[in-house]
Amino acid sequence: MMLEVRGIDTFHGETQALFGVSLSVGAGEVLALLGANGAGKTTLIRSVLGLTRPRRGEIRFRDKVITTWETHDIARAGVGWVPDDRRLCPTLTVAKNLALGTKATAYRSWSVAEVTEVFTALKYLMARDAETLSGGEMQMVAIGRALLGSPGLVLFDEPSQGLAPKIVSDVMAVIRRLKAEGIASVVVEQNADVALSVADRAVILSRGHVVWQGDARELAADHALKQSLLGGL
Ligand code: ATP
Repeated sequence: MMLEVRGIDTFHGETQALFGVSLSVGAGEVLALLGANGAGKTTLIRSVLGLTRPRRGEIRFRDKVITTWETHDIARAGVGWVPDDRRLCPTLTVAKNLALGTKATAYRSWSVAEVTEVFTALKYLMARDAETLSGGEMQMVAIGRALLGSPGLVLFDEPSQGLAPKIVSDVMAVIRRLKAEGIASVVVEQNADVALSVADRAVILSRGHVVWQGDARELAADHALKQSLLGGL
């Protein structure tokens, strides 16, 4: 297994956000992590990254227990992150923002040329300061930065949020390409249909509990099941 989360309880102050959450992702597998606003999806990602530590339970990355590791050590082990708020350095150029992601891990790094092959618009924006980019362009840089960090697993937090359909399909193409390379992805989405279009399996969170997990195609094809679990999402 690439990632195994076992029975984690995570709190924000005294408020419990995750209750005994377990899930796993294998090499080259894409897991859709779905659920309404406030269900705990971002908290799960923050728990894996060591940003909000679980009080109970265990997290393993490639069979190593990383529950108490520092965030930079988790990143160096090969866990990549595409945060929902992108977190670019606004006054640095696109080229410098991409370079900031570069690191060596046990996995292969994408090159800048490979990133611009998928996100062609970035090729012409390298010298622009990040703060002048559109939301979609910023998202491409955030994804490119994660790929230059040689991840074995990428955690995508709401990658389609606010993006034009063409960019959403480019992002999904990246996820498919990672899968072909044996890289695992966790795709947190409010938009279930987008995530299910690339996912192998899905986990649905509701108020911090896993309420369903199973085959993504089965969920995508079963309108009644999707409706009962996800309502209008
Ligand atoms: P969204 O799509 O809105 O980001 P989510 O599924 O990612 O939703 P989380 O952001 O993980 O959900 O939030 C889970 C719960 O934890 C919510 O009840 C939220 O209000 C609470 N929470 C999240 N961050 C904090 C924080 N920094 N301090 C206090 N409570 C928080």
